[in-house]
Amino acid sequence: MLLHEDNKWHYTFIKNFHHLLTQMSKYKGTRFWCDKCLYVTQYEKVMQRHEEDCKGIDQSPCKVIMPPPGDTIRFKNIRKQLKAPFICYCDFECLNVPVHSSVANSTATKKLTNHVPCSFSYVVVKFDGTAKEPVLYRAKDRAKMFHINFYSV
Ligand SMILES: [Zn+2]
Repeated sequence: MLLHEDNKWHYTFIKNFHHLLTQMSKYKGTRFWCDKCLYVTQYEKVMQRHEEDCKGIDQSPCKVIMPPPGDTIRFKNIRKQLKAPFICYCDFECLNVPVHSSVANSTATKKLTNHVPCSFSYVVVKFDGTAKEPVLYRAKDRAKMFHINFYSV
């Protein structure tokens, strides 16, 4: 493992890989690790089922369940086959405004910046490929105007 500290790089030998992974989490209960793909769970039965299908990191992670021989499969969700009537492409731009808070925070997370919206843009494209005129908004009340504009489309 390659470590970086104080502008120095250092290779270190890993004696116990599971112990290393345990230290990287706040959870201190019993865990079961898959040596092939590093999947972790706290339930032994879940791990046993995982190990039956796990082929490792480089292999397919999907569990393939085939129907019994002779069975017929039918697609039930016909509504999902229909084309969407329109697609909206939206983009919201924000400024990262630094936060200078004097209030002590009890969590490990330190708030550094606020995302302040400064503009938005969207375009609506119909199923046939035609699009309405793109909307660009850069004035005050951007978030409020986005809701008003967008939901009136
Ligand atoms: Zn695995």
